[in-house]
Amino acid sequence: MLWSESLIPTLKEAPAEAEAISHKLMLRAGLIRKLSSGVYSYLPLGWKVLNKVEQIIRQEMDKSGAQELLLPALQPAKLWKDSGRYKEIGEVMISFRNRRDKEMTLGPTHEEVITEIAKAYFKSYRQLPQILYQIQTKFRDEPRPRFGILRSCEFIMKDAYSFDRDRQGLDKNYQKMYDVYHQIFDRLGLDFLAVEADPGIMGGDISHEFMLPAKGGEDNIARCPSCSWATSHQLRREASNITEQLKRSKACPKCKGELQIQTAIELGHIFKLGTKYSQTLGAKFLDEDGKEKPIVMGCYGIGVNRIVAAAIEENHDKDGIIWPGELSPYQVLVLPLNIQDKKSREVAFKIYGDLKKDNVEVLLDERDERAGIKLKDADLIGLPVQIIIGERNLQEGKIEIKIRKKGKSETTKKDLTKFRVCSILNLL
Ligand SMILES: [Zn+2]
Repeated sequence: MLWSESLIPTLKEAPAEAEAISHKLMLRAGLIRKLSSGVYSYLPLGWKVLNKVEQIIRQEMDKSGAQELLLPALQPAKLWKDSGRYKEIGEVMISFRNRRDKEMTLGPTHEEVITEIAKAYFKSYRQLPQILYQIQTKFRDEPRPRFGILRSCEFIMKDAYSFDRDRQGLDKNYQKMYDVYHQIFDRLGLDFLAVEADPGIMGGDISHEFMLPAKGGEDNIARCPSCSWATSHQLRREASNITEQLKRSKACPKCKGELQIQTAIELGHIFKLGTKYSQTLGAKFLDEDGKEKPIVMGCYGIGVNRIVAAAIEENHDKDGIIWPGELSPYQVLVLPLNIQDKKSREVAFKIYGDLKKDNVEVLLDERDERAGIKLKDADLIGLPVQIIIGERNLQEGKIEIKIRKKGKSETTKKDLTKFRVCSILNLL
């Protein structure tokens, strides 16, 4: 892709309202644009990264045997009234009347809709277990949208649901998803913690949150530095007994070490729902013993947009983003310092063409801009490798290669550029 033909609206300064570093950099690198409070557009670079995150999640979920489907965002309010959650969710739910005067909602989650499907199709124990998942947009009328895409009113989630005959089946699927989540977050290069959490309005008894300790996080975790015990138990919303206890004692319940409270980003949350939804919505199956029983369910969420922010919180410096290879919108930036110089231009287009032929995702900054501006933008958008083409180096038949993560450059013979770049990319 040629930079001059791309929509990459970089900014020198972040708008004043941005607090978290990820939010600032997403705005400055031209990944997102705010439409209104808590509602963002993903511009081409941001959309590319989002797609890469989805792809990693999809690959790992598919590998585990889970099946992808797509549920509607538009849902009848009646379904939520039947499950008893309509009131519980309250004003966070976006609802309205359609032209037939039927109350509709924009789904903040999908337990009700998926249970309706389970009720329709999983009639016999022979059809169980199953795991279904989707990657889809959810809506919440947040009272205080903040931290850019971390707490927004419209966001993308991967949500999976398991269906089992009994508790043992659920335990097995829960463990399977717990392990899959470790694989996903490891692959995303995120230094996460899996902590015991409060199930909240999802219901059920056991739940775990996958948290990334980060300065720009909007959640809190309490963590014991001596024995690595950690919890997120309602440290954010209403104070519960545990929070009060933790605040008072500040002691680790395991080893009595002093707890540290730190901010974190919630990346994922998994729940053992049990029969909460199948019972209220009547999703029953006929078991081997001839008895009708409610399906035992689990649900497993990942905040897809959040992962983009989390990756930036973990991978940046004062100059901008440092994308991990698998998430980067492009792998390589070709940057001729002076596009007016005929030789520089020729070499830049040649390298660009060669890399493209080899299926390397490459961006060519052929803008007629000052070198300083181009170099600043290059560090800001954070592609892993920059090929910098300058007139002086070219006279010696050389080219500069900068690895963004290391902040260091090397020079290589012009004719070896492609070979050298590909070997760097393999090591990233
Ligand atoms: Zn401890």
